[in-house]
Order: sequence, then structure tokens, then C-alpha cells
Amino acid sequence: MSDTLSAPMTGVETVLSALRETMGTQISTVPSVREEHSHGEALDVSCLPAAVVFAESTDDVSRVLSLCHEHRVPVVAFGAGTSIEGHVTPPADGISLDLSRMTEIVQFNPEDLDCRVQAGLTRQELNTRIRDSGLFFPVDPGGEATLGGMCATRASGTAAVKYGTMKENVLGMTVVLATGEVIRTGGQVRKSSTGYDLTSLFIGSEGTLGIITEIQLRLYGLPESIAAAICQFSTVDEAITTAVEMIQYGLPVARVEFLDEVQMAASIAFSHLDELKPLPTLFFEFSGGPASVREQVEATESIARDNGGLGFAWADTPEERTRLWKARHDAFWAARAIDHSALVISTDCIVPISRLAELIDGAREDIAASGLRAAMLGHVGDGNFHTLILTENSAEGRARLLELDRKIVGRALALGGSCSGEHGVGIGKLEFLEPEHGVGALSVMRALKQTMDPRGILNPGKLLPPGEAYRG
Ligand SMILES: Cc1cc2nc3c(=O)[nH]c(=O)nc-3n(C[C@H](O)[C@H](O)[C@H](O)COP(=O)(O)OP(=O)(O)OC[C@H]3O[C@@H](n4cnc5c(N)ncnc54)[C@H](O)[C@@H]3O)c2cc1C
Repeated sequence: MSDTLSAPMTGVETVLSALRETMGTQISTVPSVREEHSHGEALDVSCLPAAVVFAESTDDVSRVLSLCHEHRVPVVAFGAGTSIEGHVTPPADGISLDLSRMTEIVQFNPEDLDCRVQAGLTRQELNTRIRDSGLFFPVDPGGEATLGGMCATRASGTAAVKYGTMKENVLGMTVVLATGEVIRTGGQVRKSSTGYDLTSLFIGSEGTLGIITEIQLRLYGLPESIAAAICQFSTVDEAITTAVEMIQYGLPVARVEFLDEVQMAASIAFSHLDELKPLPTLFFEFSGGPASVREQVEATESIARDNGGLGFAWADTPEERTRLWKARHDAFWAARAIDHSALVISTDCIVPISRLAELIDGAREDIAASGLRAAMLGHVGDGNFHTLILTENSAEGRARLLELDRKIVGRALALGGSCSGEHGVGIGKLEFLEPEHGVGALSVMRALKQTMDPRGILNPGKLLPPGEAYRG
């Protein structure tokens, strides 16, 4: 008998063999499927999982996790794979657990303005299915992300300035723990003062504490009236001051997005925005009753005019509005298209709104000193912006890129900010966790991870930098 035939099965082979009895057709070891699950977007880290398992129910997830726990096999939850910090890259002996087949609306409660969905449903699909009810789910990270992935990354995006992030819009969940045990957190009520807030604990946990299978979401009425516009400025300072003053005056703007001159040049070319100039620009959306929208528009026009705005161009039809926001959502791909061979990373810093202009000024100085190409854009109404840094794809290029990244993050932390407003930690932001949270808070996070996933099978190597566990 050959050595190969007599070798004992590895942990992952044992798990797959057991799963094949009940979930045979839901397991794939096809190279192209494993490749699709070997990485997310942007960050250039990838590794083929041993297999991809497609869950179709909470019971499936529970079965996979209890076997993986028993045999110490790593499991990485996979929603749509749009995360950009290496979140979904599995270890080579791990299983990628894909939830994208779990797309049901389990409950729809229009009279309570909420619904319960399976975690693999995308927010666009949810909004398409409930459109006739006059309700919608507002958190909008742009791409076709799943609601489970959005919970796990504590996603936000362009609409957070009005509606908040996933943290404010999830009422409860069903979660499968590392051992396979199924728990429910929160509920349908808008508030509760009982027990630890486990729902919040799982939001932003990046699949490292449990796998979310159902989510109770808040819904909102579709606004009666929507207006969208852009305003261009001669300088970045003028654009940022306009956005900051709008927030400080308490205008309930639905979206206010900034694109600098480099990003605008890229977006004009990529999205055919030929009517615009490569100048610092704000994209706005206002929503509500007609009178309220009119008031918001007048106040915004006045603030922009006082800050040197070069006039408003209005998107008058729903088609024009869609074209404008598609261009904004495609901004990352537009910047990528500046040089397809380049290595690209995106910063995701956030600071209190009063410090935003200072951070952006400093970041622009750092970019100029680095000699690298970089485009800036962001959800400036939240104090959050991205610098998409491009460099040649070499060890030296990578080192220069990381040096610039560290300088910008260092500035944000010094101003009381965070290294990530919405993208999360994954692998890419691990080094910033300790400077941001401090040793004590990090020890508590490690202790939580140790308690909830004692065998370290859930998305190992993500979110928490290696280090000592809390000893108490
Ligand atoms: C061009 C572009 C623009 C973007 N813009 C924004 C933006 O404006 N705002 C923003 O917030 N994000 C943005 N993102 C990032 C990304 O879209 C979000 O992080 C999104 O929430 C990820 O969802 P997903 O379904 O793709 O998750 P995945 O990428 O599949 O997974 C993300 C993480 O969540 C875990 N996970 C997935 N599903 C579950 C589950 N059911 N239970 C537990 N853990 C799970 C994974 O293991 C992984 O750690 C952008 C990305 C791109 C490429």
C-alpha cells in the first residue's frame, strides 16, 4: 500500500467527508470556485481554500461549524467578497463558507418598519423585493454586498450621514457560534436595556466570533422627494469647508460626497462625465418632503456660494440621478483605471468633523512629499475619506505606499480619529489596532475571542493582531 493511501485523513478531509453525507451537492473543490473564494477586492493577498461549502440554512452553518470545531479546521465566512482588506482570504487548510444562497426575507413587518432576512441577501435585492411597500433599507456601501457581510464589517457608505451605519440599523440576529450552537441576539424592538449588547458585539466582528445567518433590519419610508446635484470648487479647502459647515449647521443632507481633482479627472474619463471639470467637487443628495428639500437646497447653495462654489448642476430626472451616483460608486474603479498595472490601497481614515480639513490638508502634504499618485474621495459628512494610493507593483513601490498609508493614519489617530471608518481591519489594518485602541482594550478583545472561539477556527489571523491574551 502506498504512503498516500495509508496516510490518515487531515482535519479538513475528515470534515468534508462527513459533510458529503448530507451536503454533498453544496461542496465544491473545483479550482475556479476555490479561486473566486481565495480573495476579496483590492488587497493583493490570496490563498485557495481547501473547499468551498455553500450554506443554504442556519442548520447547514451549524453542521459545518460543529465539525470544524471538532476537527480544528479554519472556516472563513464569505458573503459577496467585496471587502478590501484581505478579510475573506482563507488559510490553505481552511473552508470558505459561502452564504450567498441564503437570500430569503424571513419576515416582513411593514407596520413595525422592520424585516428579518437571511444573511446572504444583498441590500439591492432586498430593496427591489420590498419596493412596492414604499419602504427601503438605506445603508449603501455601493457594491453588491450581502447584508451578512455588511453586518460583519460594520459597513456604512454614502447614506450614513442621514441614516447611520449597520450599527444603528440592525435590531437583532441569529448567529452560529464556533461550536455550532445557534443563538439569537436582540429582537424586534427598537430598544432594550437587558443584558450585554451581543448584537453590537457581532457587528464589525468580521466572522471571527460567529457566523451570522439571519438579521432583523430597520426599514424606512421612501422619501417623498429627492434632489441631487454637484458643485465644483477651485480648491479642496473650499469644498471641505462647505461640507463641514453643512453638518455643523445641522442640515439633514442625505448624502454629501467629496472627490478631489485627481479623482474627478479619473471619474470624468471612466464614467463619461464630460460636462464636468477635473476640480474638487461635492456630490449632494437631499431628501424628504418637498418643502424640507427646498429649504436644504437653499441653505446648501448659500453655504457653497460663500465658500467659493462655482455653481450647482442639478440631476433633474431619476436617470440623471442614477448616472451621477453610479459615477460616484464607480470612483474606486475609475481610480484603478489610472494604471491597471499599479498596486493600489485605500486609506479609510475618519476624524471628528471639526478636524477633517486639517487631516485632508496634512494628507495632501504627505502625498506631495511621497511623489506617489493618489486620488481622494470620501463620505465627508461623516468625517470619513479614502485616499486611493497607486504605485508601481514592486517591493520598493509597496514600501513607499505603506509609508504614505502610515503617515496618513498617524495623522488621523493624532486627531482623535480611527484608521477605518467603514472598511474594517481584515489583514490590511492589523498594525493600527494597538495604536488606535491601546494595549488594555486589545487584551479584552483577545479575551473575548478566546472565550467565543477557543480553538481559533473562525477567520484566523483577521481583525486581531497576534499577541498575549488577557490574563486578568
Ligand atoms: C469599490 C468598492 C467600494 C466600497 N465602498 C464601501 C463603502 O462605501 N462603505 C463600506 O462600508 N464598504 C465599502 N466597500 C467594502 C465592502 O463592500 C463592504 O465591506 C461590505 O460590507 C462587504 O460585504 P460582503 O458581502 O462583500 O462581505 P465579504 O467581503 O464576503 O466578507 C467581509 C467580512 O465579513 C465576514 N462575513 C461575511 N458574511 C458573514 C456572515 N454572514 N457572518 C459573519 N461574518 C461574515 C467575512 O468573513 C469577512 O471577514 C467597498 C468595496 C469596494 C470594492
